[in-house]
Amino acid sequence: MAGYTPMIQQYLSVKEQAKDAFLFFRLGDFYEMFFEDAVAAARELEITLTGRDGGMAEKIPMCGVPYHSADNYIARLVEKGYKVAICEQVEDPSAAKGVVRREIVRVITPGTVMESKSLADKSNNFIVSVAGYGARFYGIAACDLSTGELYVTSVVPTLEALLDEINVYEPSEMVGEAPLLAELQPLVAAAGRPVLLTPREPAPADKLAGQFGHEQLAGLAAERLAAVSLLTGYLDETQKRSLHHVRTVRTYETNQYMVLDNYTRRNLELTETVRDRSKKGSLLSLLDRTQTSMGARLLRRWIDKPLLNAAAIEARLEAVDTLYRNLILREDIRTELKEIYDLERLVGRVAFGSANGRDMNALKNSLLRVPQLAALSASSGSATLAALVRGLDTCADIAEAIDAVIVDEPPVSVREGGLIRGGCDPYLDQLREASTNGKRWLAELERQEREATGIKSLKIGYNKVFGYYLEVTKANLPMLPEGRYERKQTLASAERFVTPELKEKERLILEAEEKMVDLEYEKFLELRDHVALHLSRLQKLAETIAALDVYQSLALVSAERRYAKPSITEGYNLKIEEGRHPVVESVMEGAPFITNSASLTQEDHSMLLITGPNMAGKSTYMRQVALIVIMAQIGCFVPAKGAEVPLVDRIFTRIGAADDLIGGQSTFMVEMKDIQIMTEKATRDSLVIIDELGRGTSTSEGMAIAQAVIEFVHHHIGCKALVSTHFHELSHLEESLPSLANACMAVEESGDHVTFLRKLIPGAASTSYGIYCARLAGLPESVIGRAYELLDGLEQQPEEKRTGAGFALKQPEAVETVRETAAAADLRGAEANESRTAMPAEALREAAAGL
Ligand code: ADP
Repeated sequence: MAGYTPMIQQYLSVKEQAKDAFLFFRLGDFYEMFFEDAVAAARELEITLTGRDGGMAEKIPMCGVPYHSADNYIARLVEKGYKVAICEQVEDPSAAKGVVRREIVRVITPGTVMESKSLADKSNNFIVSVAGYGARFYGIAACDLSTGELYVTSVVPTLEALLDEINVYEPSEMVGEAPLLAELQPLVAAAGRPVLLTPREPAPADKLAGQFGHEQLAGLAAERLAAVSLLTGYLDETQKRSLHHVRTVRTYETNQYMVLDNYTRRNLELTETVRDRSKKGSLLSLLDRTQTSMGARLLRRWIDKPLLNAAAIEARLEAVDTLYRNLILREDIRTELKEIYDLERLVGRVAFGSANGRDMNALKNSLLRVPQLAALSASSGSATLAALVRGLDTCADIAEAIDAVIVDEPPVSVREGGLIRGGCDPYLDQLREASTNGKRWLAELERQEREATGIKSLKIGYNKVFGYYLEVTKANLPMLPEGRYERKQTLASAERFVTPELKEKERLILEAEEKMVDLEYEKFLELRDHVALHLSRLQKLAETIAALDVYQSLALVSAERRYAKPSITEGYNLKIEEGRHPVVESVMEGAPFITNSASLTQEDHSMLLITGPNMAGKSTYMRQVALIVIMAQIGCFVPAKGAEVPLVDRIFTRIGAADDLIGGQSTFMVEMKDIQIMTEKATRDSLVIIDELGRGTSTSEGMAIAQAVIEFVHHHIGCKALVSTHFHELSHLEESLPSLANACMAVEESGDHVTFLRKLIPGAASTSYGIYCARLAGLPESVIGRAYELLDGLEQQPEEKRTGAGFALKQPEAVETVRETAAAADLRGAEANESRTAMPAEALREAAAGL
């Protein structure tokens, strides 16, 4: 290090503190990067790599970005999952002895960006911490620094539970105890979204009291406290400023809400589609008619966390109902909401010290809408809406404080003046007067000199280097009396001059302007600090507005799409009359969506075994039942003529084959694992949906497993379940399982034509039309003919032969099939044990081991 120049030595010592980040080292108007940082940044940002003399023989690699456009470069690096440490000059260069002192003022990371450029309006940007390795529970804390939200919970110490909960937040960054992150890392990587992981130990919790107060911390379990302290420690370390807007710890229990594992969440396309992960085509995008970004984010949270409390759901439904029926009220509320900015993020910027004059006015203009919104809600006739705004703090004083200080159209910059109103500070007014007078004086001088010299084009101008000057074009120079002005600068076509008088005025004008700019900045900071004292009031208000926005959004969609108010019950039965799939219905053009009812009851049957050919509409139907339950439990109306929805504690789905290849596991193995989790976690109040159960292995084995699973759900769980299968042979189960009924998708045959009617009817499908589909696909007639022949042969054989040797005669995999039969026999044996936990895990493992 000794051989380097003092500046490079300084660089190296600062870099020690930010080893895992790109260090943006401020040098004049640039942020420079050196050494490996420079090489990597040049590659990532496609900027030129140069060299700099650093005191050694070899030049040091260097690249840089201009200070004024640094935000773009930082955003690009952060988006790619990197950290960027900003190192500024922290003393006045003119006052510095030797190298100017420099310090890291902030580390920008994917989970802590505040710049609106890097944030999507309608979604949160969460950083999640995990703690409690080796303890009885894992603690999870999730913070959106841009809005100040902080959620805290615990889960049982399994990776699945941890991952399911983490996935609710879709974090862009995680911090956590090293062993936990190490276990999570491959799973997070498989999710396909870049997540930056930083191992950290929990910081001492005593620091937390200052931020959250003893009261909030007192009730926190150890693992939660650890997660919170780990997170806030990391935020301290990177942001290096107090975060006044992160003050409320919102704790919850995961079982307060319907449990939706990540697979189910994705499969039902609640917030994004499976195919391209876009929001468009998801339930969220269908239901999102919110007017504010806060509302959009809250709606997403509601969809992620359906309620399990009948009274709370009823309360939501009551508000939606009122807004559903009262179009004028709804439109009035929508009109007001439209003018409201993202209060949560404005509050974040105020706390962070990055809010400018325009942000202040956005805040003010939003607040001005609140009284009208509150009045509309109070008189709406809805008890829920009235309660929402009862005693609402409208923060009118904050709007007034802003209005008194900030001009109507302030500039973006807060350092260049022009943002503080006249009349709010006498000294500022004086300076303004001096500056205006000076400018008036300049105009007068220009007029006088034109007259005196007879040069009509003489003009007064200004530039940064020479200040104010008088300019005379070359052609007019002969008219200028010798010695009248002092020559200052010669251009190609003109000469520029000054006079002592002009220089004197210039001094006064510039001085006034400089003082004005400083004073305006000071006044602005005063206002921002004042607003910062009231952040929690603003946050509370933002929450209220967000909820109102979600209500109107749900009401609007429900009304436009003619949804019906579900009746929520604490019983068992789920009944849907003429239900529709909300998303499929919304994208259908021309042809109508065919409605289907559902009745899963204790008295009749709680399980449906659905058969029917591919493309008949089985999975659409099963998904629609799940979506209707979820919609009801978030407090939305449902796409049906009517529905009776019980409180479903968990929806478990295993549908379709999309993106099944997780971490190199086979589809079948993934399915078995999911089923294993279901057998362990599902309760009587759950809803289980399995599409094409037993696919992915050979016929006999798949069928054996399917039957075993169905029987297990029937005997030991007793939950509501929809199971589709292409094994028509399983339809006999209806006879032995009293709570199970067969159903199928109706198909109309005429000649060699098949029409899908998309109607669910009782009974089993007669054939799967697989061969028919093959013919449609254009397979040679000889192949089709042979297939029908073989099928006939198979169907005439007695049951046991079909899964065993009989099959083997015609198939080359004789050995395989025999072994399958053995596995199936094992399955039946194990099932006789009747023990709930022992059966599925072991039997399935055995079945799987046979593969
Ligand atoms: P399966 O699961 O039986 O293979 P899908 O549920 O995937 O069939 O349905 C196939 C297609 O049929 C869907 O993409 C959808 O466009 C259409 N469809 C399904 N159900 C209906 C319905 N009830 N009304 C109208 N079209 C439907």
